[in-house]
Amino acid sequence: MTYDVLIKGGELIDPADERFGLYDVAISGGAIAAVAPDLPAAGATQIVDAHGQYVTPGLIDLHTHCYWGATYWGIEADPVAARTGVTTWLDVGSAGAYSFPGFRRYAVETNRARLFALLNISSIGLIARTYELSNLDYCDVGLGAAIVEANRDVILGIKARIDRDTTRGTGLEPLRRARQLADQVNLPLMVHIGVAPPLLAQIADLLRPGDILTHCCTGLDNHLIDDGQVVYPYIRRLWEQGLILDVGHGTGSFSYASAEAMLVDGVVPDVISSDIHQLAVLGPMYDLPTTLSKFLNLGLSLREVIARATVRPAAAIRRPELGTLLVGAPADIALFHLEEGDYTFHDVHMQPRRGTMRLVNTATYVGGTLLPHVPERPPAPWVGADFPVAQRSALRHSLSS
Ligand SMILES: [Zn+2]
Repeated sequence: MTYDVLIKGGELIDPADERFGLYDVAISGGAIAAVAPDLPAAGATQIVDAHGQYVTPGLIDLHTHCYWGATYWGIEADPVAARTGVTTWLDVGSAGAYSFPGFRRYAVETNRARLFALLNISSIGLIARTYELSNLDYCDVGLGAAIVEANRDVILGIKARIDRDTTRGTGLEPLRRARQLADQVNLPLMVHIGVAPPLLAQIADLLRPGDILTHCCTGLDNHLIDDGQVVYPYIRRLWEQGLILDVGHGTGSFSYASAEAMLVDGVVPDVISSDIHQLAVLGPMYDLPTTLSKFLNLGLSLREVIARATVRPAAAIRRPELGTLLVGAPADIALFHLEEGDYTFHDVHMQPRRGTMRLVNTATYVGGTLLPHVPERPPAPWVGADFPVAQRSALRHSLSS
């Protein structure tokens, strides 16, 4: 047997396959060719020494904004993918109906990382910072359905950001239309929460099993934790029925107080995602491995954390062939060092927590090809004016050992 690449001696973490321990991983023709304890090096074109490292399926980030050049929030995927192990990016709502053809042409087709999308119920998507749902003329269910039907290979769900600013006077109607569109095309609906109105309870009424509630650890008005520091019973009920709770850290949506209360109450988020965008990439979110490290230091095991960025998001987007290293799967692979030290992490409110572990990506393969490290674009000109002052200091303080 000949292999294109043989990754030898690493410690495998493949939660989809429940395979953990010392395994070699062989790649042929862009797919996983073999996974076994000691594969013969003879015949392999290239051998990668992974001793002392963890080998995981390429990470799936369920909440990103990677429509660079056409939207307020968008960054370029590939330069970040190469240094983070994120091989599958779900762009959630950057593109609406009017701008989706451009997302396919200028983002999906120009990145080596795998890009998928949730279509924004707003036809104008996230070209600007907010207010995208404030004009109901832009919430056109029929148009959205036509775009989905023509792009089912890329569009895996519907997105609606439901908060005070995005809706600005239109209340729950955009969410009702998003619900109608998701039902019509039979795809999951991801809803973003934050500042009320609408109220969390009104939003929850329109959610169904298989839908995704993102920003689940928010510390803003629509947090999931009631005064008694437990998760609202109606949210817990929905979660037990199959609502997917997704972190979506971002610049406004990860509160240590909320996350810690949820964990104490036994409600562990199903998916850990970054909500990486023009502002969040500057900190204190930074990237998905940093976000995963925060949960490691909150007490989740490495297996639990990797599952929430591989097999769990793969299931959420109904793409079980991703997020696994089963033989025959695409050879999307990430290598990590688990560094030990004394680190300080911050939530979006600049609340610090000490930690002793940090996941650091060392190599990222998409379809069997190593992604080269390339420079990232500088922040967009509008970022300087909008970046929260409190979070600027994160650049100096976070992650210093
Ligand atoms: Zn987002």
